[in-house]
Amino acid sequence: MTRPTAPSPATPTSEKAQAQKDPVQVNVQEQNDSVPKAGSQAVSANDDSRFSRFRLIGWWDQEKIRQARVLVIGAGALGNEILKNLALLGFTNIIVVDLDSIDASNLSRSILYRAADVGKRKADVAAQATREIFPEAQVHAITANVVHGLGLGIFGWADFVLAGLDNREARLWINRACCKMNRPWIDGAIEGINGVARAFLPGTPPCYECTLGETDWAILNKRMSCNLLTLEADTEGKVATTPTISSIIAGLQVQEAVKLLHGLPVLAGRGFIFEGLNHTSYRVEYTENPDCMSHYTFSEVVRLPRTSAELTLESLLALARRDLGSQEVVVEFSRDIVHKLACPNCEAEKRSHAEEELFAAVGTVPYERGKCPACGQMRTVVTAHSYSGSESYGQRTLTTLGLPLFDVFTARSSEREIAYLIAGDAASVLGSLSQSQKQGASAK
Ligand SMILES: [Zn+2]
Ligand SMILES: [Zn+2]
Repeated sequence: MTRPTAPSPATPTSEKAQAQKDPVQVNVQEQNDSVPKAGSQAVSANDDSRFSRFRLIGWWDQEKIRQARVLVIGAGALGNEILKNLALLGFTNIIVVDLDSIDASNLSRSILYRAADVGKRKADVAAQATREIFPEAQVHAITANVVHGLGLGIFGWADFVLAGLDNREARLWINRACCKMNRPWIDGAIEGINGVARAFLPGTPPCYECTLGETDWAILNKRMSCNLLTLEADTEGKVATTPTISSIIAGLQVQEAVKLLHGLPVLAGRGFIFEGLNHTSYRVEYTENPDCMSHYTFSEVVRLPRTSAELTLESLLALARRDLGSQEVVVEFSRDIVHKLACPNCEAEKRSHAEEELFAAVGTVPYERGKCPACGQMRTVVTAHSYSGSESYGQRTLTTLGLPLFDVFTARSSEREIAYLIAGDAASVLGSLSQSQKQGASAK
């Protein structure tokens, strides 16, 4: 019998994985030696009976679960199962992010959605359904694209991130954001009846980017045309999946998250491959890439109690110059923005509208938009990723740059860097969960 050929993302065939087919064994001895003692159990009587079966697990600490802050990215087949598990386990601080609306095809793989929900936003419906399973949970829905629409502060709010996505671009962005903000993330990927769960811890490579091979980079680069404008939507989101495999992989992801919270050994920099057809499940060890771009963590995150609407780039630069004690300071953005589109043709003809200012995140401007409205020629994309005082856009407020709210701006002098979190945006981005933020300046 031939083995099923299942291309990525479900199996890391195109990734630089050393597929060490060590059968997965639960090392009971090792766990008994390393399990932490149960902590304080400050819970209500109601909780006490609701979670009584968990407490029979010697190392279980329901209070750790109750206090944890979880960011769930993707409310599709995996995200539904992740949220269901979080609610059943008693997690109370959850943010769920998704860009899409519910389609009839989601109903076969999504425990949280009903036929009447078709057309509604996934994040909203998933948040509401999660609260219905566990009414004590605060679940905040954000409808946004993870790559362009999520400020880095949202990653910093979370203790860990659970991802249920179907594309490499979003995973790569989550990986870099989590590394910068010093947060672990647990990825799941499914295809057919196969899947993989894996955990990536900041400061402990290999990370997700380390696992990417040439094929992955080719697919990633294909998503963007050479001039940084976005080509038509691809077949993203049309991967063959079943509710059975999403249940298995999401179950593993959440279980790893619970173990991580309790200080138990997890799949750090490793993956657990589940092959449903032949039952050849195994663990893979990834290899660290010494040239990986992701291995960077902010050394110092300062929470600025100001909003993006109040701050201009000039005022932020002035603050950074003062804090860093230098006039030679550059303020870097969390991601590149399209500053303007310039038509070389109209410029040569000295037409008045040869340049058009945009201020939109790279990846949000469609290819068609690049054509010059006057002469039809493809315009040059001028990007920006920093402000040092001399650029034309210093008087813009942070809200008008095409960057998301609650984001991080990194100020650098030759000596030192400070990452400024625009913390005044917290209430408008996190809703009631802004009350459960970490205090203190550090990202960890
Ligand atoms: Zn890496
Ligand atoms: Zn033109």
